[in-house]
Amino acid sequence: MGAVSKQTADIMRVLGSFREFGTDDELSEAMRRPEACDFVYGNPHDVAPKDYVDALVRAAQPTGSSHYAYTMDLPAAVASIGEDLRARFPVAFHDHDIHLTNGNFVGLAIALRTLVDPGDEVIFVSPPWFFYETLIVAAGATPVRVLADRDHDFDLDLGAIEAAITPRTRAIIVNSPNNPSGRIYRPEQLTALATILEEGSTRSGHRIYLLSDEAYNRIVFEPHTFTTPAAYYPHSFLLYTYAKTLLSPGSRLGYLAVGPDIEGADDLRAALQIGQITLGWAYPVSILQHAIPELNAMRPDIPVLQRRRDTLVSTLREQGYEVVEPQGTFYVLVRSPIEDDRRFAEVLRTHDVFVLPGGMFEMPGWFRLSVTANDDMVERSLPGFAKAIAEVSA
Ligand code: PMP
Repeated sequence: MGAVSKQTADIMRVLGSFREFGTDDELSEAMRRPEACDFVYGNPHDVAPKDYVDALVRAAQPTGSSHYAYTMDLPAAVASIGEDLRARFPVAFHDHDIHLTNGNFVGLAIALRTLVDPGDEVIFVSPPWFFYETLIVAAGATPVRVLADRDHDFDLDLGAIEAAITPRTRAIIVNSPNNPSGRIYRPEQLTALATILEEGSTRSGHRIYLLSDEAYNRIVFEPHTFTTPAAYYPHSFLLYTYAKTLLSPGSRLGYLAVGPDIEGADDLRAALQIGQITLGWAYPVSILQHAIPELNAMRPDIPVLQRRRDTLVSTLREQGYEVVEPQGTFYVLVRSPIEDDRRFAEVLRTHDVFVLPGGMFEMPGWFRLSVTANDDMVERSLPGFAKAIAEVSA
């Protein structure tokens, strides 16, 4: 028997090429050079705004002896989130059904752990956020991949989802606005999805839950609008992270909210709390919990993100690239002009442009750009993109 459990070895195998890429020291060093135009991850490339930092500094000031005590879901924080959710969405979330998390990594881990037994299946849509499969395996369940409808702008393929439901299906993860496609699922699709899940639940004799990963629900471009899938299917977990809205993924803050009409509400409420504790007290640190009422009022600078998106989409198209225009999120999908996306990422790298190759997120032949790259990087990258496509087309 080796040092690592079989389950851990399985998890590591699933993460595969991502582990390699994410831990490439030479690449990380090249990305840190001042010349680098870094489009790889959704990381900030501008210094955090003063109002964000000031809110954290204020929240660090003790309000009493319990300020830094073990805190589960700070009442003032969940009240402020509840108010915000009820104002934005037609779901009457109760404050006591809101659980604070360390972002959607943890929200998903808790929800999955709470729901699945070994052998249960969890459906996810491909191309996915690259950790879904790993998190499903880590929770002990079996991942079931359903391809998005690439002929229709990466919409949900409802027929394929219906066909993927088996008596072992326990949950489906839906991510809108979608990373990496930028797609926002329309109300008609969500209504049809709810019917499929309802019928699937009836057929299999147990409830199929919807995990609605809404990391980007505040990053929506004109003229599009977002509605939560949780408004269409009451048996949903709404998962949110402040990482994207406030461009602060290192702060590890988010929440999970279950709707008032979810099946098994009382059992789930208690079980989710146990999930948080047994995952290692997976609650946000005190400072972040106290800052939530102020952070809730902050908004991402959509015009800035939209301008960068527009610059990249139009310039790359003029240069001959095929580009998917996102409706939300801060990602732009681009088809690699050569089949080998890794190889093309290397060509771009010789021009100091760093992108995420599609092989990392089940889209070989494509690459993804994050417009969290600052304005200067976007401007400086454009000649690099032009030279790279010219080189491989020569
Ligand atoms: N879901 C999606 C779709 C994401 O893009 C990300 C972050 N890239 C996460 C979940 C994880 O969010 P966090 O880092 O805030 O836990």
